[in-house]
Amino acid sequence: MEMAAPKPPIYGETLESLSALLKGSGHAAFRAKQILAWLYRRRASAAEEMTDLPKPLRQWLDETFDFEPALLLLEKKSEDVTQKLLMQMRDEALVECVLIRAPQEGEALGKVRTTVCISTQVGCAHGCRFCASGMDGFRRNLSAGEIVAQVMHAVRLEDEKDPAWLARGLVSFDNLVVMGMGEPLANYDNVIRALTILNASWGLGLGARRITLSTSGVAPKILELAKEELNIRLALSLHGATDEVRSQIMPVNRRYPLKELLVAVRAFSKAKGHMVTLEYIMIDGVNDTPEQARELIKIAKELHAHVNLIPYNTVQGLEWRRSPAERRRRFAQTLKDAGVSTTLRKEKGHDIDAACGQLRLKTERARVATKKSL
Ligand code: SAH
Ligand code: SF4
Repeated sequence: MEMAAPKPPIYGETLESLSALLKGSGHAAFRAKQILAWLYRRRASAAEEMTDLPKPLRQWLDETFDFEPALLLLEKKSEDVTQKLLMQMRDEALVECVLIRAPQEGEALGKVRTTVCISTQVGCAHGCRFCASGMDGFRRNLSAGEIVAQVMHAVRLEDEKDPAWLARGLVSFDNLVVMGMGEPLANYDNVIRALTILNASWGLGLGARRITLSTSGVAPKILELAKEELNIRLALSLHGATDEVRSQIMPVNRRYPLKELLVAVRAFSKAKGHMVTLEYIMIDGVNDTPEQARELIKIAKELHAHVNLIPYNTVQGLEWRRSPAERRRRFAQTLKDAGVSTTLRKEKGHDIDAACGQLRLKTERARVATKKSL
């Protein structure tokens, strides 16, 4: 028997694509706006919930689209700051998304910010030596719909906590970071499409300035991103301030060495008019020397960038260790003394960047755990 082709996720449709599909199937194109409002403002999770649509249209939606491309398998809270959502895609690939609720530095006392961290690929082909995401290689890109579906699960959980957001058709969380499993710029079209849907007024309506994309440094794609209408923020995983150190831990640096990469990042911040963040995970004896600090200062100044120093999180099976606290403190002080805007992250679980960077490992462990319990 021939297998039916899988239905595309409804969450991958833009206003334009959905209007065209409706028209092509004999339905009124103007219904697209109504359908998307049901999905993103009223958080409908099935066609049958869209009660003011004609019945044949609801039937067509049901037959045409997948409304549940990412099945929520597990939801786990740890240390009351991170909430991990484990999802299973239609091909059984497991993907994790994290909600982080943490007080932000510089905020008024007690103000908690919620950040949602999403994945863009299953595995990662970039193989940074310190990262768990690349350890098992690369399996596939996530589709735009699968990326958006992760966010919608997070939105629904937030709605349960405080239904006032749903009542107003708004989103409660403060930031969306594309820092989970995978290299977003290696899945460029799907990621841009997903972020467009999440940002659009006909979509989720999340402000572009609340979205940050983190990349290991795919220079030509950073240049492409600079030309997009989408005005999102960029974080560069630098992790090494010279080609020698960077190439040792990030193979992508051999393809796009610092000189070329920094030209692209500079072009991005110029085009968008906002500061880029340089992420720098501190690995003992690798990138935490005074010489690296000096080179990092040069780069940060040239780019007018903010530096985010993150303690390395040990990955099982890898030899790297985090720099001792005193060295991290001194490294940060050297940067600050030179006038570089610097944040020194703590080592707690509410370290957003580290929590995201660890997704792959956690996912793999979760896979074993869920297989056992299913
Ligand atoms: N591929 C993209 C986004 C995903 S990784 C990128 O590389 O930027 C998100 C962040 O987590 C990156 O800065 C990455 O370097 C960091 N990261 C990876 N492994 C980590 C670990 N073990 N400890 C702390 N941060 C880690
Ligand atoms: Fe991929 Fe980013 Fe991990 Fe490098 S740090 S292997 S690019 S997910």
